[in-house]
Amino acid sequence: MSDCRFRKTCQMPGRLAMIAPGTGREYVKRYCLGAPEECARYMVAAAAGQQAVPTAMLPTETDRAWRLTHQA
Ligand code: SF4
Repeated sequence: MSDCRFRKTCQMPGRLAMIAPGTGREYVKRYCLGAPEECARYMVAAAAGQQAVPTAMLPTETDRAWRLTHQA
C-alpha cells in the first residue's frame, strides 16, 4: 500500500466523487492508496508532468497512457 505522490493535485478523486462516487471510492482504494504506479494518470504524470494528463482520463486507461508517453 502506498499513497500516490500526485494525490493532492490530481483531479480524478474529486471529479469521480461528484459523478460516480462508488467508482471513485473503488479507484481511490485500488490506485491512489494501493498501487498508484498501475494508474494511467500516474503513468502520464510521472513521465510527462501532471499538465500532460487529460482532464477526464481514468486510471484504467493504460493503453491511452502508453500512447501519450510514447509519442514521437
Ligand atoms: S488517480 Fe492516479 S494519479 Fe491521481 S491520485 Fe489516484 S493514483 Fe495518483
